[in-house]
Amino acid sequence: MNVLVLNCGSSSVKFQLIATDLEQIAHDGDHRLARGNIERIGGEAIVTLQAEGRGSQRSTATLRDIRAAVDLIVRWAGANSGIEGIQSVADIHAIGHRVVHGGERFTHSVLITDEVLRGIEDFIDLAPLHNPTNIKGIVAAREVFGSGLPQVAVFDTAFHQTLPEYAYLYALPYQLYRRHRIRRYGFHGTSHRYVAYRYRQILGISRDQTNLITLHLGNGCSIAAIRSGDSVDTSMGLTPLEGLVMGTRSGDIDPAIIDFIGAKEGLTSQQVETLLNKQSGLLGISGLTNDMRELLEEAHENNDRRAWLAIEIFCYRARKYIGSFLAAVGGAEAIVFTGGIGENSPEIRSKICAGLDWMGLKLDEELNATHIGRREGLISKDGSRLAVYVIPTDEELLIARDTVRCVRGAPQRY
Ligand code: ADP
Repeated sequence: MNVLVLNCGSSSVKFQLIATDLEQIAHDGDHRLARGNIERIGGEAIVTLQAEGRGSQRSTATLRDIRAAVDLIVRWAGANSGIEGIQSVADIHAIGHRVVHGGERFTHSVLITDEVLRGIEDFIDLAPLHNPTNIKGIVAAREVFGSGLPQVAVFDTAFHQTLPEYAYLYALPYQLYRRHRIRRYGFHGTSHRYVAYRYRQILGISRDQTNLITLHLGNGCSIAAIRSGDSVDTSMGLTPLEGLVMGTRSGDIDPAIIDFIGAKEGLTSQQVETLLNKQSGLLGISGLTNDMRELLEEAHENNDRRAWLAIEIFCYRARKYIGSFLAAVGGAEAIVFTGGIGENSPEIRSKICAGLDWMGLKLDEELNATHIGRREGLISKDGSRLAVYVIPTDEELLIARDTVRCVRGAPQRY
């Protein structure tokens, strides 16, 4: 089955085409056929398309909306682009969508029906920036492919629906949860789920034996505590703003700061929220960039004090969370780094793990240095009580596999 995986953002669409089926899943025989990225939709969009085994093509195109972007992907895929097994649109058999918020209703991936679409709409309140664009992607794909083609929604929140009540409830008046479902949902679920799955595959252990902490460090950053294969706590909350320091998001702050900033700077609560989401984090502290690679360069080349400070705060917050999540798991065997920073920066991994030797974490700096560029493996020393791994994430693969399982009516595996 050839699955088109779509990740529709406000002005971008990322996609992959993956050939997979139940048999291939069982033998890890999934096959990536093509991938691409369309940015700056709404104007002169930048289009990057790549059939597997060929060079990537970059071009620009005037694309009005997500529908135009999906149309472009489909025309390219069907137009003899050298994609193995794809001669026309009819060779695409299903679509898997990344959907950010599934609230409490969607605990697993689902085939998209009108009712499911209405369900995703119901959570627009909780994810006003994301769910509307995910819906646009689903509607666009229906228009382009016709309503007969199965589409599946894979939710960022679903993996964290196993959090116990004491971990997901905030200490707010309980009726706020009852009335508005204000609680911790957590995000990056597909990524945490994938690396937890890969971890048990690498070690040859069962889901029940999987006790670990996963750190997804990209532009957005989150950490998850996984006990017996289930997510039991995570750092992101009602929205992706809570928790670790991120590229442009503050992560945890004293909630009283919001009104304080508003009063001092003459900003509305909406403006303060934008400041916390878009102008804070690494960017806010350094005043330079939200990009960790650039920040490290700036710190090393110019010894910029605030670049170093941003890096230090980022690593300290992550270390502090590892400590508390070790307590949450109650006996983790490993921590796993993933995401753009987690997969590629030995320096940040080393700084996060610094000073944790007292509790038995011994990083192997040589192994750490060589695990970059999607290399997977152990980076702690033999005899380290807490093992450390780098496992490159692959959310698209899980989305494609969930799509197959939903379409085939096979049980889902979390
Ligand atoms: P997104 O969350 O948007 O998917 P990614 O997971 O690709 O983002 O992560 C992007 C982050 O990864 C950026 O901060 C980028 O600088 C960082 N990154 C990528 N490569 C490196 C590297 N070699 N060293 C440090 N940071 C890196």
